[in-house]
Amino acid sequence: MPVKKVQVRGSIVELDGDEMTRIMWQLVKDKLLFPYLDMNIEYFDLGLENRDKTEDSVTIEAAEAIKKHGIGVKCATVTPNKDRVKEYNLKKEWPSPNATLRAALDGTIFRSPILVKNVSPTVRTWKKSIHIGRHAYGDVYKNKEIRVPGPGKGELIFTPTNESSSIRETIHEFEGPGILQGIHNTDESIRNFARACFTYALDLKVDLWFSDKDTISKTYDSRFAQIFKEEYEKNWKTSFEKASITYFFTLIDDAVARIMRAEGGILWALKNYDGDVMSDMLGSAYGSLAMMTSVLVSPTGRFEYEAAHGTVQKHYYKHLKGEKTSTNPMALIFAWTGALRKRGEFDKTPEVVNFANKLEAAAIETVESGVMTGDLLRVAVPSPNNKMVYTEEFIDAIAAALKRKVNQD
Ligand code: NAP
Ligand code: MG
Repeated sequence: MPVKKVQVRGSIVELDGDEMTRIMWQLVKDKLLFPYLDMNIEYFDLGLENRDKTEDSVTIEAAEAIKKHGIGVKCATVTPNKDRVKEYNLKKEWPSPNATLRAALDGTIFRSPILVKNVSPTVRTWKKSIHIGRHAYGDVYKNKEIRVPGPGKGELIFTPTNESSSIRETIHEFEGPGILQGIHNTDESIRNFARACFTYALDLKVDLWFSDKDTISKTYDSRFAQIFKEEYEKNWKTSFEKASITYFFTLIDDAVARIMRAEGGILWALKNYDGDVMSDMLGSAYGSLAMMTSVLVSPTGRFEYEAAHGTVQKHYYKHLKGEKTSTNPMALIFAWTGALRKRGEFDKTPEVVNFANKLEAAAIETVESGVMTGDLLRVAVPSPNNKMVYTEEFIDAIAAALKRKVNQD
């Protein structure tokens, strides 16, 4: 008997991508989504050839569509470098689509691990997810640096647009060679970051931690802590209390020490550099990059879901040679379920949320039954049931588990 398809009311903006993830993306849609869902998809092909053909306007249009419809789901894309320009015969080195989307949506990226029982985190106490929110603007990523050649004065100068007197601070009187660095951030970007973090913590119903080093950086890091506090008191306290979650600020070193003995169930908001370092630490401690999802959240509550990993270029080259690969589609599947669940919440269609939950459960059960891709086999708890399968076999196993769940209704 053909299944009655679940109607997804609002639109989902789909951003297709490149290489091995593009291949898996299609399989996921064909085997796990299209047989069960009736969706209004706004499709944008962000594959490198089409970005080149449209002079990258397709990326901007996709961002506009996400602003309009509120929800996007993105496949991994190649950010071209010199080698890629040659390989794909590109007109130029197009900018990173993720950077373009982040700028257009003024968003913050949150990363979360997908937990399965047979891959245990390296840190024993972690039972629930630790989500990371990384501020993706400014600091050392937009710095100016000087290699100081010899004796002289290093200064920090701000020249106001409307007034005559500038503000000056001596950084250091150099007696010999050294180095100097200038960094910045803006109140607006910090506030949007804070808002995105409060929005996302509330969405996940988990405690929010923010940490920096305001005891040492009494103006710069203090400004972050102040803005988070102001935002919390003014706009979030009531809804946090209602949801029985808390906002907690502590020093970065204290936060690191606490995370190492925490149970999880936390969204950890971090400045740009701290977030860069800590997200890689968490990713590896939870098992595999292919088990990390990522979502871009705008301060106005738009969501774009994706996998944290790239296009898995090495596997794609094998695939092109006709070899089978054991590439893990879990994070791509969870990008879709994240988008579907949010769509269902926005549209108040519990059957869509329910389908997303079933698909996630089917994927997790498949791995927990021992059927897994090579990256997981390397880190899974050893068991006679463990069996490495190729990508398509893995998706077929999930499809079978999903079918059983759907038929149970
Ligand atoms: P990558 O695609 O993340 O892959 C790096 C390595 O991690 C792979 O070679 C593989 O290791 C392992 N891996 C990652 N995802 C996996 C999966 N789903 N299943 C199994 N193994 C997985 O990074 P990359 O190869 O450095 O980058 C390739 C392209 O991706 C680049 O052109 C980059 O611009 C782009 N990229 C895009 C995004 C994005 O769109 N969000 C993010 C990062 C990178 P083994 O080879 O050991 O199996
Ligand atoms: Mg990093």
